[in-house]
Amino acid sequence: MSPKPSLPFDNSYARLPQRFYTRQLPDPVSSPGLIRVNHALAGHLGIEPNWLESKTGVEFIAGNFIPGGADPIATVYAGHQFGGWNPQLGDGRAILLGEMIAADGVRYDIQLKGSGRTPYSRGGDGRAPLGPVLREYIISEAMAVLGVPTTRALAAATTGDEVMRDGQVPGAVLTRVAQSHIRIGTFQFFAAKKDYDALKILVDHVIQRHYPEAAQADNPVRAMLDGVVARQASLIAQWQLLGFIHGVMNTDNMLLSGETIDYGPCAFMDEFDPGTVFSSIDHGGRYAYRNQPPIAHWNLSMLAQALLPLLDGDEEKARASGQAAIDAFPDLYMAAYQNGMRKKLGLTQSDADDAVFMQDLLTLMQEEKTDFTLTFRRLSDLADPEKAPGGGVGSVFELPETFAPWLDRWRTRLASESHDASEQQKGMYAVNPAYIARNHLVEEAIDAAVNQQDFEPFHTLVDILAQPFEFKDAQARYAIPPRPEQVVKQTFCGT
Ligand code: AMP
Ligand code: MG
Repeated sequence: MSPKPSLPFDNSYARLPQRFYTRQLPDPVSSPGLIRVNHALAGHLGIEPNWLESKTGVEFIAGNFIPGGADPIATVYAGHQFGGWNPQLGDGRAILLGEMIAADGVRYDIQLKGSGRTPYSRGGDGRAPLGPVLREYIISEAMAVLGVPTTRALAAATTGDEVMRDGQVPGAVLTRVAQSHIRIGTFQFFAAKKDYDALKILVDHVIQRHYPEAAQADNPVRAMLDGVVARQASLIAQWQLLGFIHGVMNTDNMLLSGETIDYGPCAFMDEFDPGTVFSSIDHGGRYAYRNQPPIAHWNLSMLAQALLPLLDGDEEKARASGQAAIDAFPDLYMAAYQNGMRKKLGLTQSDADDAVFMQDLLTLMQEEKTDFTLTFRRLSDLADPEKAPGGGVGSVFELPETFAPWLDRWRTRLASESHDASEQQKGMYAVNPAYIARNHLVEEAIDAAVNQQDFEPFHTLVDILAQPFEFKDAQARYAIPPRPEQVVKQTFCGT
């Protein structure tokens, strides 16, 4: 018998005490079929992409083959879901195979999502339908190239089994990669149980893994909390600057690593409206676009609360310290947002008028219902119209007349800076994508795969979104907003 092939796993979470997880093997599937392997990411992780595409490799990504070195576990956590406390959640349909150290020295989790039931499945079947797997693959990879910290998609496979949702639909498994899957809810789980030993072990683990500089601080727990607050402020600012709506910002969907996780009901907005909500289950609009910064702030206050017993031996001082850490969020967020917005507008210098200047643009966009992405892309063309390749997106989108006075103010600002127009334009093209994962395109790709077993639209979309900053007239179809009949009004969690 040939030895079991092994991958370079090094599993630190599985070395934590037993109460952090349950050892659990994936449930084999009938007939694994390859959908796609992310060659660049595989290479980065030191996994041979061609092996992943081999028969054994596909068995691996579907959960049927466990290579040597893996130590499969389902992790436990709790969380606030839509504001309501749930003391017991956990990986109900995901299994952490193990961790690998990539070429950049960073440790990554390798997780299968949709790999069968676990002790945390509650009523669920532990499976993932094909549609949501493709959705997560497309959008998480699109976010990654846009420079947003995010979990990644290493591979996806069909299972050959059907799952029951709105009728029978094909099942699939996603191989998800993250710097870790440790959530605010993981801390909440142990804090609620008053298991402060576990809480301390978790803090040490997170510091070592994500905030090594905090270990040197006078108060490492506070330093870690400060670090998480800063990373989340920057992450949420990036979402806002791209018109990304997460849709399910529960505390179990917020990672200590500062990466975006859970591509369930998320979507990019087309026309700008700060009240936009896509998720079918978000009736009150709790997770609407405009609420994302305050919700992140609230979630972080839940983390601070969970950390209170470790922040200081004195209860008053612990509370004051946690509060001070959390109070930093609004300013950190606003600074990250305004910095990013200046870049989107080709500006490098801040100005006392910035907040008003930016708000005036957003108000115009809202009044005129202009497309969020194309507005900024068209501004990039206009920064140096002669140099816009092929006229830029002008062939498919123009700003309304009513923008003229604001454009005059903007041109005055641009002219007041030392960079020349062509440099300003280059900077803008590098941060204002022409292509985003528009909902109607994602749905179109899913529909073809699920209903016609045609994966071409999925592959094409993934390929186009891999180069979001380079507009090509021949691909204009992927840059334009949906026609009225193509508009997707609702998204679903896919659970
Ligand atoms: P999510 O809405 O994806 O953040 O999931 C919330 C919780 O429900 C997590 O604990 C998931 O593991 C669990 N869950 C979601 N879908 C399923 C499913 N099909 N089977 C079992 N557990 C699930
Ligand atoms: Mg989740």
